[in-house]
Amino acid sequence: MEGRLKVRLLIRKLMFPLVAAVCVFGLAATALAQETAPLFHVTHYSFDVTLYPSTHMLAAKVGIGLVPEANLSSLAFRLDSALHVKSATGPQGETLQVEQQGLDLTLSLLNPLPAGQPATVTVEYSGELASSDGSPVEGLKLAYVGPEGSYLLYPSDWFPVAGDGLDRFSATMQVSVPQGETVIASGDTSGPVSNGSGVTYTFQYNRDSFPGTIIAGQYIASPAAASGVNITVYLKQSEASYASSYGSLAEKVLAFYASKFGVLPTQQLSLVEIDNDTVGGYSAPGVLALAARGFTDPPDVDLLAHEIAHQWWRCLVSPATPNDAFLDEGMATYSAALFIQDAEGETAFENQMRQVEIGALTHESAAPIADAARLHPFSPEYESVVFDKGAMVLHMLRWVMGSAAFYQTLQDMARQYTWKSITTNQFQKLAEVSGKESLTYFFAQWVDSTGVPQFKHDWAIYRTQHGYQVVGKLQQDLDIFRMPVDIRVYVQGSRPVNERLEMIGTTADFTVNTPRRPMQVVIDPGSYILSYTPKTKIEVEMARGDQLAQAQEYFAAISQYQSVLKDNPNDSLAHYRVGDILFKLHNYNASLESFQDALNGNLQPRWVEVWSYLKIGEIFDVIGQRDRALNEYQRALHTNDNTQGALDLANRYLKNPYSQQTNQLGA
Ligand SMILES: [Zn+2]
Repeated sequence: MEGRLKVRLLIRKLMFPLVAAVCVFGLAATALAQETAPLFHVTHYSFDVTLYPSTHMLAAKVGIGLVPEANLSSLAFRLDSALHVKSATGPQGETLQVEQQGLDLTLSLLNPLPAGQPATVTVEYSGELASSDGSPVEGLKLAYVGPEGSYLLYPSDWFPVAGDGLDRFSATMQVSVPQGETVIASGDTSGPVSNGSGVTYTFQYNRDSFPGTIIAGQYIASPAAASGVNITVYLKQSEASYASSYGSLAEKVLAFYASKFGVLPTQQLSLVEIDNDTVGGYSAPGVLALAARGFTDPPDVDLLAHEIAHQWWRCLVSPATPNDAFLDEGMATYSAALFIQDAEGETAFENQMRQVEIGALTHESAAPIADAARLHPFSPEYESVVFDKGAMVLHMLRWVMGSAAFYQTLQDMARQYTWKSITTNQFQKLAEVSGKESLTYFFAQWVDSTGVPQFKHDWAIYRTQHGYQVVGKLQQDLDIFRMPVDIRVYVQGSRPVNERLEMIGTTADFTVNTPRRPMQVVIDPGSYILSYTPKTKIEVEMARGDQLAQAQEYFAAISQYQSVLKDNPNDSLAHYRVGDILFKLHNYNASLESFQDALNGNLQPRWVEVWSYLKIGEIFDVIGQRDRALNEYQRALHTNDNTQGALDLANRYLKNPYSQQTNQLGA
């Protein structure tokens, strides 16, 4: 199922096996379809929802409070196409004409709504939410009602949503479920109250945010001790043991963000498990939904920190338009990296940002960050540009401004735009105020346009009276480029010497004096600037191959890996990936050859060795050559590398042969 989704690839960490997870502000998910602005703003919803898990049915009556910008005789919304509108009424209780076509819902009024005058229309509808069939994102379940647990995520359009879904609103909710189920949603809650056949929960969310997510099911609720915020972890029986590790991690993340961005005005956070057929995580005000696969030991720090960051960068302050989306997803991605830096140290942070950089370069040229609306929010391109390049740009901004001014900007953003939306322009102004310099050059280059430098340099050494002088030239191809660039000279038997160069245009000269003999010159040693290097290029090509493999576009993936192998025939990982795909395609001879090539290559990363032995063993088992298979499993054991449980698996295979019916590992 996940393999079919072109979604956020978590190739962070091990890059193995490939795991898909998504975190979306999916609001904009279907905005592409909407050609014109809706000419009204939604300000409030009142939900009266009943869930019938045994039949997957949802019945709802939703009051929509809105303010027209012009005199309007029709209102356009989106609604999950599995839901059917029974009736709609206008402000005076008059019946409205309803037209439903796919995701589009149009309500026509006999008496136009006057501009500027708040009005409420009410829509009654019901339908079966059992699969992803009516979802605005093909193949992805964003709303589900069922006995295993129900979730109605805002991006699913489970209620009528207008425009790009970026209007902030308040909400009152009444949710009825069968006895024994717990309902989790945004805001102050009361209930459950028995209603005869089941129970009803009530929620009130008075701030302008996005309180449009409801989760219900049989949960074990564990309160986590936290200073200032009440955290409750809601888990299903099978994951119940994760309550304390996730509760205490959530507490640490909240405390770190509060110290950097300012304290959240709301004091509740529910962390709720939902099923695996959906996004990796989603963040609504005070409610964090994580797919079951997000609960791991040790905890998935990146995922949890990313989702919690959305409590600030979405729920508290949101992007004004889809083109400002990096202030939501890029900010959450970078916030998670900042938490990792604080909690796990510099090396972990550098690894994290390295993955972000590779992600950013994978589809950097697809669109400038400021044109994000051109990209489909669930595509790898969107992920690359908005999540990863967005995070990289914030990383560069922090470096250009300095950490103090950068954090000041984020605090100003959280304080001055509390419960409001912000444009990229307004964000730039905040940064210019705290950084005390114009940043037009920075935003024009990194946000408003595409293009990534590739640095080249040459240098010569001269003797001086007191030591040595390195005289060099730095080059890259982008004409509009302007950035400070660090230059580090490694010297014999002494500490390296650092210089910072203000580079404007395609070339810059540098001179660095050193006390001892210079050995090596490294450009941008801290990797602060989004740029291409020969090594980065290979990783980017590999990441593209991985995305294609993930999307089950196997032949395209193989040719992508082969283009890596053309220049780097020793790349074990590329051989391994090809072998893995050929294995899936049951092309055992060619697959065997690829795994053998992987073993004869550079054996980077290390786990390629043990897993190649395992895979070769599996091939021999499949074709019935048990002795040769056993031999390979023994070799696997000798590596002593238990990455992803490789040794445990080898021991299992030594007892029982691999069989394709019972084992889909690596799939
Ligand atoms: Zn996110």
